Amino acid sequence: MSFVFQPAPPISLPVAGTDARFPVRRIYCIGKNYAEHVREMGGDVERSEPIFFTKAAETIVQSESEIPFPPHTENLHYEVELVVAMGPDGIFGYGVGIDMTRRDIQATAKQRGGPWDRAKSFSHSAPCSKITPKANVNLDGAHIVLRRNGDIVQSSSLDKMIWSIPEIIGRLDADMDLQAGDLIFTGTPAGVGPVISGDELSGGVEGLEPIRVRIT
Ligand code: MN
Repeated sequence: MSFVFQPAPPISLPVAGTDARFPVRRIYCIGKNYAEHVREMGGDVERSEPIFFTKAAETIVQSESEIPFPPHTENLHYEVELVVAMGPDGIFGYGVGIDMTRRDIQATAKQRGGPWDRAKSFSHSAPCSKITPKANVNLDGAHIVLRRNGDIVQSSSLDKMIWSIPEIIGRLDADMDLQAGDLIFTGTPAGVGPVISGDELSGGVEGLEPIRVRIT
């Protein structure tokens, strides 16, 4: 097959314990999946249903990378999240991601009822750790944490998720026909906040590879 210009190389993430990489297809994200975070954003937990949005695969950033502070925002936020990585036979493994968000653009989009793409799917907006194959992982009650410049700013437990991983997968699969290579960012706990140039973000979930990036 020939192309009129060179196609972009496939997007992929390293996999713990092997040189083979995880090829990223699509990125689905869940909003409003921890009650304390719904409250800090001014939402109503009782009537809240998790929401779905996407990031382009090209927004993936590997751990130990630098993230340029994006244009058109004065309020760039971190959101640490468990990432589920889908394989040919269900869940392949898990990672730790940071759903970088231009919060000011998101607020305007919410007011206008418009799409979130500019707030959520900009360049370098999806840092993600190495993927750990599921056979090596037990996430029952696992702690999730984000440190900004060494200080803990987000700290919770995966069992606080409103929608469980099987529920999220069931819903997404029914709606979107999940495929091998799809990543699912499963929502963030409370404590989201802004970063400035020079900040280092370091996220972890017990039993998984960490994610660490620096804002430049
Ligand atoms: Mn998020």
